[in-house]
Amino acid sequence: MPDLGRPAPIPPAAMDAATALMQTGRLHRYAETGSTGGPVATLERDFAQLLGRRYAVALNSCGSALFLALRAAGVRPGDPVLMNAFTLGPVPGALEHAGAQPVLVEITEDLVIDMDDLRAKAHASGARVLMLSHMRGHLCDLHSLQALCCDLGLTLIEDCAHTLGATWAGRHAGTFGLAGCFSFQSGKHVNTGEGGVLVTDDDAIAAQVILYSGSYRLYAQNGTVPPPEVMAEWAPRCGNYSLRMSALVATLALPQLPLLPARVADWTTSHDRIAARLRSAPAFALPQRPQAEAYAQSSLQFRLPDRNPDAMAAFVATARAAGVWVKWFGRAEPEGYSSNPAQWPGAEAEQAPRARAIQATLCDIRLPLGLDATACEAIADTLTRAEQMTDSKGPRHAPS
Ligand SMILES: *Cc1c(COP(=O)(O)O)cnc(C)c1O
Repeated sequence: MPDLGRPAPIPPAAMDAATALMQTGRLHRYAETGSTGGPVATLERDFAQLLGRRYAVALNSCGSALFLALRAAGVRPGDPVLMNAFTLGPVPGALEHAGAQPVLVEITEDLVIDMDDLRAKAHASGARVLMLSHMRGHLCDLHSLQALCCDLGLTLIEDCAHTLGATWAGRHAGTFGLAGCFSFQSGKHVNTGEGGVLVTDDDAIAAQVILYSGSYRLYAQNGTVPPPEVMAEWAPRCGNYSLRMSALVATLALPQLPLLPARVADWTTSHDRIAARLRSAPAFALPQRPQAEAYAQSSLQFRLPDRNPDAMAAFVATARAAGVWVKWFGRAEPEGYSSNPAQWPGAEAEQAPRARAIQATLCDIRLPLGLDATACEAIADTLTRAEQMTDSKGPRHAPS
């Protein structure tokens, strides 16, 4: 069975470029002498162009991008911020970092934000900002969401850690709100170990994020910079939080950007093969994917809606024993990269009971690149067999 946690490979061109960079010693993005901006500035230009935004700011993580987006959007300690109740720890973590009070919004069975609940919670909380996580690559109707945010006076920040390369009606996720935040962590679409990029069209947001990231007074070396008068206006008001991307990370990322379309095609093929098999098994429920969505699905989600917690645990243990690392969002204790609102400090899980009920029977597998048809069959077989071997009321056969 393939290792589902296997990260995307580092292309040989990236390794060669990294070696050449190390010979110069210029691993920090800025320099007072002898610098032309280097690979980080190039990455910012390429990334902004890829997404079709005016500005891209390279950072040390997506979590930093989320935090700086909140900060630059004017969120201050104690402010309520809306967020969908299905996401990963770094999102509530970014709210905590900014001192914001999370207001959890329900999700639908298709794993996207529930717009009726968004409207109700926006009115009840008075929040001005929505941090929307396109968790595990599932896009809501982004045009309806934009209209709703406009109606409610909400600023939209997009967490795109799972949607690099995904589009809604032909437009990139991450370009529907004030800012879009991307991750280069090893489990994501571009693998540099750690790294993040924030994109925006807004001068004031770009200026603040560049300054907060820790650009000293060398921001002219950034790849995409607002006009000098905008930078001069914000420079005295933004401290240096030292959240920069290193030149080594940018060097590893750059040769991976042109590979994205091929990677997305690879993931989509594997996802659709396994999903088709699971859809034909009656015990499995998979989210509906809207026509307008072109996903970049490097993982696959399904529910076993009839199961109680013991039966879920038995299914997960059986699939794992057969070599398929299934993750379960309903676990009482957080595990690895999956958690639920009851496990996020500062969040009030009871604000989103329907999300919790959905997560109670929700599972997830990661999809490495390069799965062939045989490997996809083997994964689907293992999952359906693990389902048949364990009973919906509890373990039927002890996992071997
Ligand atoms: C990975 C991830 C992040 C954070 O990315 P880092 O670069 O590790 O900070 C944010 N949101 C989601 C949904 C993620 O999966």
